[in-house]
Amino acid sequence: MVDGYETNPFRIERGVPQGDTASPYLFILVLEILLLRIMLDDNVTKIKLTHPTHKKEDGGSLPIPPLQCFADDMTCVIEETEKNLIMMKTIFEDFAALSGLEINEGKTKVIRIGEQLDDTKALTNKVKFTYTTNFKLLGVTIDNKLKKLSDNFEERKKKIRKKIAIWRKLNISEVGNLIISKTFLISQLGYLLSMMDCPEELMKVMQQDIDRFIFRTGKNPWMAKDRRYLPPIEGGMGAINLTTYANSLRCSWYKRINSGLWSDILMAKVGNKENCCFIRPRDIHPMHISILPIVKAFEALQVKFLKDGGTTARINTPLDQIALIKRPATRTRKEEWSKPTKTTHPFLFKKGKICEITGSMLTTPDTTYSNSPKLKSNPEIWELLGISGLHFLRKAEITRQLKILVSSLIVNKDFSKKTDPASLPLMFSKVKKGSQAYRNILIGNSGTISAPKSKIEKDYRISEKAGRENFFEKAFSFWKNSCLPAKIQIMLLKICNHELKLNAQLRHFATDEQGIRVKPECTFCTISDEENIEKETYKHFFLECNHSKSTLEPTARKYNIPIPNTSTKGELILYYFPWEGKWDELRLNIFYAIFKFYLLSCRRRKILPNSQHFETTLRFECRNIVMTNPTNSGLTKNLLPLWTGHELSESETLKVLEEIEGKTDKGKIFDYSNKNTIILKTQVHNNYRFPIVASDYQYHRLNEKRNNTLIKNKPLPDAAIAGNADT
Ligand SMILES: [Zn+2]
Repeated sequence: MVDGYETNPFRIERGVPQGDTASPYLFILVLEILLLRIMLDDNVTKIKLTHPTHKKEDGGSLPIPPLQCFADDMTCVIEETEKNLIMMKTIFEDFAALSGLEINEGKTKVIRIGEQLDDTKALTNKVKFTYTTNFKLLGVTIDNKLKKLSDNFEERKKKIRKKIAIWRKLNISEVGNLIISKTFLISQLGYLLSMMDCPEELMKVMQQDIDRFIFRTGKNPWMAKDRRYLPPIEGGMGAINLTTYANSLRCSWYKRINSGLWSDILMAKVGNKENCCFIRPRDIHPMHISILPIVKAFEALQVKFLKDGGTTARINTPLDQIALIKRPATRTRKEEWSKPTKTTHPFLFKKGKICEITGSMLTTPDTTYSNSPKLKSNPEIWELLGISGLHFLRKAEITRQLKILVSSLIVNKDFSKKTDPASLPLMFSKVKKGSQAYRNILIGNSGTISAPKSKIEKDYRISEKAGRENFFEKAFSFWKNSCLPAKIQIMLLKICNHELKLNAQLRHFATDEQGIRVKPECTFCTISDEENIEKETYKHFFLECNHSKSTLEPTARKYNIPIPNTSTKGELILYYFPWEGKWDELRLNIFYAIFKFYLLSCRRRKILPNSQHFETTLRFECRNIVMTNPTNSGLTKNLLPLWTGHELSESETLKVLEEIEGKTDKGKIFDYSNKNTIILKTQVHNNYRFPIVASDYQYHRLNEKRNNTLIKNKPLPDAAIAGNADT
């Protein structure tokens, strides 16, 4: 058919291979015939789901489609009569004869809804459809009472545990585990979490499993919970908090509010589409359990937005979301604030809808963003509330009540500083794609000061020094720099969190190999039998110990690295060294990172550091960094001096690179073509990006055993978890 006219018949001479771009289109063209047939055939009685006792907006009459399709998976809601079932079977058979697409009668499932939920006895033996109480749709098992939806998460939990057991065996460092957790573990949950509620207990267990995996422990991780999930720039680890992750995924449903049953339900609650984000769980009929998770996420975002968005968020939020009514203090309780409700302030709500009246709607546009917003005129406000037609006494009473609310909204508040975005709907409209923006709002804790930050501030008074404007952001996120090997990354992370235990801290709880309490004295000073042995603190060990100093000075001078005054500017060596120029800054900080790493490895091996040995380590580590980041030419150029001892010309650079690569002509070719990018064909060192931590081997074996028992004890066979491919 072309434009409704029949063309001449033609012979089909070839098909399309699987995966061909044309094949899905051809498939849906053909399938459409089947769908039309079912939809238009009056012999199949479809069900219209209406409920006379429910209000329209609570699902009393919503256009629930009787026939839904996804790829080759079809769901059809019909009345269960013998005639209907036989009719469906006939339609399927006719369609098979027409198209060659067989429908497997045994695989077609009938799930009863309404009464007789548990009865799986077939109505007739004339069709071979299977009767059951649950079905699998797009990888989610759904039962007809919607009571076992959480089993889906139970399955995922087992799957994640299995994966953890496998990855634990590789004994990868914390930073490596963090990446693994994001790529292989969290991704298992994304799809389910984006639409379904997970029982809180189960969520906690999964979070704990994942966190313990990242931090390579069976107990509580060393990093406090409030920092684990913060972005590195705020001093955190950047791990994923499942609750926040779930909420941010659900918030991104907002973009799809234009169509579908769930949007019909939400849209019935608001006059303005954009206000959907203000709908709260209690506005939703408990029957609509599939919408609750999304609305809960909206609420979580709104609460956080009100808290962090300053006063402008307050004036752009519906009045019933803000505590505006003051209850007088009684003898037992302090004074309390409560929110206006449908009972106390019915005029804020239109029939069947949520409250959409905000402070900025009630005030004149030119005064809204000032320190004293003015109310609009009475007729304007009556129009807004839709009460113009009421008796004038009633109107006066409503105006009086409204004025009390508004005055407590704006009293002692300054709205003149308009922060951007000023309201939640605006914020939603700003987000283009994905859920990252929501996550940042949900997790951000700007304003509160973390323990590591306040300790550094106390020790070094960063805020009083010039040139330290972005010190904390840089110091806290340097460990994340991807060119660093993971062993150095994790050392830096521990240093800025003060989790690197030196003897001064260890003496409080640790014992040595012989079971004797660790002595607080400096390891180096003890080895060399100094007269005045100081405690091994961060300050002494990295900055003041004579052994560390004499190791640093000659090497730093040779490589042209500035040495700060260690007694007043120790933070530069300990945490971060800000410097003019991106690459020089990086070179400087990599130098000091390797310096700290070297000192710690000497301490562990109980040997004294010296500058020659340090230089060897420095060259070795720089070489590794350069070789594992071959496409980063800026990095290569700026680290070469640290590696060779002096600045190199371009041709010298190529020579050095050829040296480690083995003699090739590649360098010359690049030289001739005047290319700066240097590509090295070198095997990435084993144990480099994800170093395997050998010293923990024994502990690791224990873990492996424990994980194996976990796998053995799981009640479900593997096959039950795997089979979701065939839809
Ligand atoms: Zn010392």
